[in-house]
Amino acid sequence: MKKAAKISLMTFLAAISIFSSTGLAASHRLHYDTYFNYDEWPRSNSGTIYIDYYYSKNGFYDYRDEIKDASDSWENIESSPFVISKTSNESKANLIIKSDDYGDTGWVGRAYYNRDPKEIRLNEWYHDNSPVNGHSYRYSCYENTVLHELGHTHGLDHYDCPDEVMHTTHNHVLTPNDGDVQGIHNIY
Ligand SMILES: [Zn+2]
Ligand SMILES: [Zn+2]
Ligand SMILES: [Zn+2]
Repeated sequence: MKKAAKISLMTFLAAISIFSSTGLAASHRLHYDTYFNYDEWPRSNSGTIYIDYYYSKNGFYDYRDEIKDASDSWENIESSPFVISKTSNESKANLIIKSDDYGDTGWVGRAYYNRDPKEIRLNEWYHDNSPVNGHSYRYSCYENTVLHELGHTHGLDHYDCPDEVMHTTHNHVLTPNDGDVQGIHNIY
């Protein structure tokens, strides 16, 4: 009886280690973290989250295309709750996106996720003053930055996996990964 229990425990442990070694490589689903104190986007009766952003270009460069591409990427995740639109009426926006030359601040983008309206800032200083985390400007730098900062406004904190949009440091992931998406469905 004792011996049988011991063998089955060992089989059980072996099964766990096989499962986790294959499961870990294949799945990013747990690769997200969410903010503890966070004011969620309001949802309509059908559960849709309408984000109407106003873009204020204050510097030299225009990031409207990067913003559009990043918005589309969040709209297109599996079972997406988001409908993201640009508005030219600032007073109707629940998200303000500003770009300007903020200088050598150490950040390319930053998000104020608990403001009303929520706010994203894009720092164009790194557009001309490379390196942006070790490399010079590419279109994908700012598309990824908008995607990442939008993730913060959705309530996602950083997670230390380079395949996720919410990776702690700048990467060029242009589509929310499994962890990013799971994080959204955990919050909403
Ligand atoms: Zn991951
Ligand atoms: Zn980059
Ligand atoms: Zn961040």
